[in-house]
Amino acid sequence: MDMGRRNLMISAAALTLGPGALRSSSALGAGRAERPLGYAIVGLGYYGLDVIIPQFVNCAHSRLAAVVSGDPDKAKRVAAANGLPARSIYSYADFDTIRDNPDVDIVYVCLPNALHAAYTIRAARAGKHVMCEKPMAVSVAECEAMIAACKTANRKLMIGYRCHFEAFNREAMRLARTGAAGKIRYVRSEHGFVQRDPSKWRLKRALSGGGSLMDMGIYSLQAARYMTGEEPVAVTARESTDRRDPRFAEVEDMIDWTLEFPSGAIAGCQSMYSANQNRILLMGDAGRIELEPATRYAGNMMWLGKDGREQAVTPPAGPGKTQFAGQLDHLVASIRTGREPIVSGEEGLRDMRIVEAIYRSSREGRTIRLDNNRRPNART
Ligand code: NDP
Repeated sequence: MDMGRRNLMISAAALTLGPGALRSSSALGAGRAERPLGYAIVGLGYYGLDVIIPQFVNCAHSRLAAVVSGDPDKAKRVAAANGLPARSIYSYADFDTIRDNPDVDIVYVCLPNALHAAYTIRAARAGKHVMCEKPMAVSVAECEAMIAACKTANRKLMIGYRCHFEAFNREAMRLARTGAAGKIRYVRSEHGFVQRDPSKWRLKRALSGGGSLMDMGIYSLQAARYMTGEEPVAVTARESTDRRDPRFAEVEDMIDWTLEFPSGAIAGCQSMYSANQNRILLMGDAGRIELEPATRYAGNMMWLGKDGREQAVTPPAGPGKTQFAGQLDHLVASIRTGREPIVSGEEGLRDMRIVEAIYRSSREGRTIRLDNNRRPNART
């Protein structure tokens, strides 16, 4: 992107989000002495251990209350480093006894994708609310079972779609919705990284459920939906994978797909495991909104192009000190107010219906129609 186009800063004040559910401090009990709710982190890998646990210091209403791991030594180390007592350490085998731990209000599932459903359902049955990482699961059927289990247990279910709590993405959604680029005609979103380690569970279908689409493609798909604010009615997909490459014996490398929306807008999306990319572009009949990088943990950037000028956009702060803290505290607010999280299990299910249709379209070489919230049907 030409930096010359990015020279004019838009006033943050002019773009400030109004007060809403996300920023409602009263919903979180501000001014009242409510204790932060306790999270149990399940899976002490990169995301659970290195990304999420360090974020509790940034939270106003959430705290770390327990860890669940298959590695007892690591679990002990992490517990000690975070001031947790031995009774707050669980293995996968004794996980269900977490029901007896009143310190744990929420279970955060940070496991390989194919384990999301089982641990969400076990957590709900143990009487805990659930935060589940993306992708929600590896099939529509699993997503439906997770929603049903949480409903039966009367527990909240939220998906770790952190971009909904990230300042640039939130501002991009607001700009798109308020017509800053005019009538939305086209969205392009591409996400990928170079997956170098052939031993990673991400490349084993039984644990990942699929390749780059299940991992980075979820960001492209989410962006297409939250930038347009619409649900797609049809999808056409094509996979491109070098199956001689030992990394891609079981799952796809690159996949691109086109979504058709009721307004006539089109989204061209892509994910891959063989190049680094992270961008969202929205084209309207009066301008464009561009984010690159778009969905990183930090350092995202955004431009609004209108009337022949490109303006760098500095968004107002998000709802939390960081996108992760905003996400963690949002589930607490949802539990306290009884409102559904803005990225509920239903939202993860919507994505998984489209994911299944993307794979099916690519496999069958034809456009698949998406019938509102029902299962995808082949276009006749
Ligand atoms: P890692 O491989 O780094 O960690 C996964 C952890 O799960 C392991 O360390 C292990 O923890 C536990 N685990 C249990 N069973 C298995 C198994 N059979 N194979 C491998 N690990 C197992 O993965 P990530 O942390 O990168 O990803 C975890 C989840 O988080 C995924 O669903 C991913 O999509 C999501 N994620 C989300 C991100 C986001 O930005 N929202 C970013 C990165 C990941 P232990 O040793 O404690 O048992």
